[in-house]
Amino acid sequence: MTQSSALSAVPSGARDAVLKFYFGPMDCGKSTLALQMNYNHGRQGRRGLVLTKHDRSGGPKITSRIGLGLEAIEVEDSLDLVRLVTGHARVDYLICDEACFYSVEQIEQLADLVDEHGIDVYAFGLASDFRSVMFPAAQRLFELADEVCRLQVEVLCWCGRPGQLNARVVGGALARTGEQVVIGDTDASPVRYQVLCRRHHRSGQLGEGTA
Ligand SMILES: [Zn+2]
Repeated sequence: MTQSSALSAVPSGARDAVLKFYFGPMDCGKSTLALQMNYNHGRQGRRGLVLTKHDRSGGPKITSRIGLGLEAIEVEDSLDLVRLVTGHARVDYLICDEACFYSVEQIEQLADLVDEHGIDVYAFGLASDFRSVMFPAAQRLFELADEVCRLQVEVLCWCGRPGQLNARVVGGALARTGEQVVIGDTDASPVRYQVLCRRHHRSGQLGEGTA
């Protein structure tokens, strides 16, 4: 954690860049917040890059369920994020959507950008996969971030409890095994995702009328 107080040696006006991770289940408003944050920083005259991976639109842009959208850089596995950023004339901050799908090495690169280049990094993503097991990139963000925030924007399980975990539903049943990353919720895919409370993720009950 970085903290400054009247007793700290940090000169006024100077502050360390920060690495923040905002996490939550699907539909909790992560992408909407990412877009809002980019807008707010831009209004202050700051310059940022917007990154994403596997966005629900299938293309290199961030789309939110409430209909906002923004062109973004697609984070391929081979992309070196330090090289990407230092190749730009001036970057004050990064918005990293779907950061749970980045490689662990790319999360290390984000930390380098904060510490070595003074760039603020705001990362957004899921914490855990459909098995309720943490994504490696999310785990690294938990370990390295200055600040971790759970987002809970009224996403509820069918029972009314807060939705915490993402379930993968294949053929109407909750899947317990499979690849960690499978794109679903498209017309062509038999896979869909549903947010459940912990109790119903563990029991596998999907609620009435959702099968
Ligand atoms: Zn429930």
